[in-house]
Amino acid sequence: MTAQRVPPPRPRKAQAVAAFRSTMANAEDLCRREGAKLTPARRRVLEILAEEGRPLGAYDMIEKIAVATGKHPAPISIYRALDFLLENGLVHRLASRNAFLACAHGHKHEEPVVFLICEACGAVTEATSKALHREIAVLGAESGFVPHSQVLEITGLCRSCEDRAAAV
Ligand SMILES: [Zn+2]
Ligand SMILES: [Zn+2]
Repeated sequence: MTAQRVPPPRPRKAQAVAAFRSTMANAEDLCRREGAKLTPARRRVLEILAEEGRPLGAYDMIEKIAVATGKHPAPISIYRALDFLLENGLVHRLASRNAFLACAHGHKHEEPVVFLICEACGAVTEATSKALHREIAVLGAESGFVPHSQVLEITGLCRSCEDRAAAV
């Protein structure tokens, strides 16, 4: 058998569909549990982010809604929907890019979330860790500080961009 460079499998489409479904199912479960309402505006914003699978700014969302419905929504309606989605842990905000990302993991608001952001292609991977949660709690306790939002943004190269860079 000759050593051959096998292109990485591309189950991305199936994965994306699964992520979309899991995001929407999480949202519905959560709203049922909490007695919150997934209004059409909130649902539309979440659907756009879940479908996109990468971070989008508020104005990109407005454009997408305008293309889909033929009407430009008011920015305030987008921000209101985002506030609700952020509060309920259905969406995360990437401060460094002022962009929003649907969460398919049902992360709780107080859970630390690590974003691995690719500088080349913009892909964002979300990760979390119990050990990190504990460490942050210890860090906070030592400083007499109560952490709320716990988002870490780490920039670098994703695997496929790293491979591409190595191949050049
Ligand atoms: Zn998340
Ligand atoms: Zn990349």
